[in-house]
Amino acid sequence: MKCVEKSELPEKRAPMNTYSLEAIGISKSYTVDERRIIVLDDITLSVPAGEFLVIEGKSGSGKSTLLSILSGLDKPDSGRIKLDAADITDLSEDELAPYRNRTTGFVFQAFHLVPSLTALENVMFPAELNNDSAAAAKAGELLKRVNLVERMNNFPHQLSGGEMQRVALCRALVNGPKIVFADEPTGNLDSSNSNAILELLGQLHKEQGSTLVLATHSREIAQMAERVLILRDGRIVDGGKKNKR
Ligand code: ADP
Ligand code: MG
Repeated sequence: MKCVEKSELPEKRAPMNTYSLEAIGISKSYTVDERRIIVLDDITLSVPAGEFLVIEGKSGSGKSTLLSILSGLDKPDSGRIKLDAADITDLSEDELAPYRNRTTGFVFQAFHLVPSLTALENVMFPAELNNDSAAAAKAGELLKRVNLVERMNNFPHQLSGGEMQRVALCRALVNGPKIVFADEPTGNLDSSNSNAILELLGQLHKEQGSTLVLATHSREIAQMAERVLILRDGRIVDGGKKNKR
């Protein structure tokens, strides 16, 4: 029997636990004061299952709009979105609900925690929607991972920005999503909190094998990804440099 050196083995991924994503010719514009603003102009991109992709661009380049459309939170004017090869473009809110809750996680820049729920309850919430009897245990486990055990019963207003973002991250991960979208998840944090969040995202991405699509204006953060797409004025101007890891 041939002995395989550990270093020869492919990087450990969980292929069943991860989704690919494809966007074909996505465009989106708004009309403001009778002026048409083109926010996304014919975006085509493909994210293989398990990849950590960063979409880098200055403020106003269209990152949040693109992430909302890729994740099904918003609809494009034209173009198609395929999640795990299934075309989700025309799905109704009701049809998208199971994707949102079970297979995709979303981390927003502005946390969006429910103020009347404790940290633990915020994290449990998506799992409870799934009638997951292990919701509390999973939420507690994740909060432990991010060193927030002692803060579990605190409400968001009792937490710092960094703590709130860690809670928001746990909430996005509690259902073991196959793909995670993160929109400037460190945008409101100081550098030590940002690093903690990014480290955690990177670790979880590796462990769970989930696909990670992260938007940022920061070059430094972009360098942590496997691949970087650069967005400028709603167009991809650099279609995928692989970072050395
Ligand atoms: P980013 O996240 O890169 O900062 P956004 O996707 O938020 O960029 O916005 C891109 C552009 O689209 C901006 O010029 C913004 O003003 C415009 N935009 C976004 N949403 C709307 C909207 N609902 N109505 C009008 N313009 C919008
Ligand atoms: Mg944005």
